[in-house]
Amino acid sequence: MQLHNHGAEIYVPDGSPVDAALSRTTHLGVSAHQDDLEIMAYHGILECFGKPDKGFTGVTVTNGSGSPRDGLYGKYTDEEMQVVRRKEQKKAAFIGEYSAHVFLDYSSGAVKDPANTQVVEDLKKVITACKPQVIYTHNLADKHDTHVATTLRIIRALRELPGDSRPLHLYGCEVWRNLDWLNDNDKVIFNVDGHENLATSLVGLFDSQVAGGKRYDLATMGRRRANATYLASHGVDESTSLIFALDLTPVMDPKVDVKEYTLGYIDRFAKEVSGRLAKLM
Ligand SMILES: [Zn+2]
Repeated sequence: MQLHNHGAEIYVPDGSPVDAALSRTTHLGVSAHQDDLEIMAYHGILECFGKPDKGFTGVTVTNGSGSPRDGLYGKYTDEEMQVVRRKEQKKAAFIGEYSAHVFLDYSSGAVKDPANTQVVEDLKKVITACKPQVIYTHNLADKHDTHVATTLRIIRALRELPGDSRPLHLYGCEVWRNLDWLNDNDKVIFNVDGHENLATSLVGLFDSQVAGGKRYDLATMGRRRANATYLASHGVDESTSLIFALDLTPVMDPKVDVKEYTLGYIDRFAKEVSGRLAKLM
């Protein structure tokens, strides 16, 4: 596959040929940065882990050059940081038994530029080669510009592809903003109980981020635990670990307005809050 950037790479942990590794994909995760997938798309990783008939492929759109750094990594240049972050993402792909991991190697600025069509073209190539049943990406109410831009590029790629190349499901997941606020009937709920060791390893191995000053490992496990416990006030916990997502499947249809669709979730949330206040005041 010919990807646009010179530094683009497709890593296959088990050494299979690239085409074979991509075509065995059933679940695809597309994220802005190294480590986002292990936080938000863990459901897909777990669905495929140890299953011979399923395959998770990850895509990281940016090169990780602008990431914060401290301690051991404090004096690393942007170039050295990119090397570290790619190596960490490969470790995650190996431990999580991904079918493949695609590094598209764009700057954040390129991803955020709506006029940049190269990101969209690369994503179309990857999706066509993988033909996944499910795609996990960032949710459109996330507060990180590069995350939201990544999702908008995927939506555009899917809209430009023929219908039979589109997945059955497109999910927007949690990184820089929980989805706990969604009304319960608007939540897609992924139960990610079990393999807690795997869940912890996959986030914890990103040493440049965790030791660099952000305890994503503890925070991510805590968020999943909190999602499970605070989902319902009545009844005992049915799961110890949940990830919430926003169903983006309808926006693959070019006739659906992306902004209106997203704001619809917020409108329904506002109605829920105002309805309770009206009832109790
Ligand atoms: Zn990120």
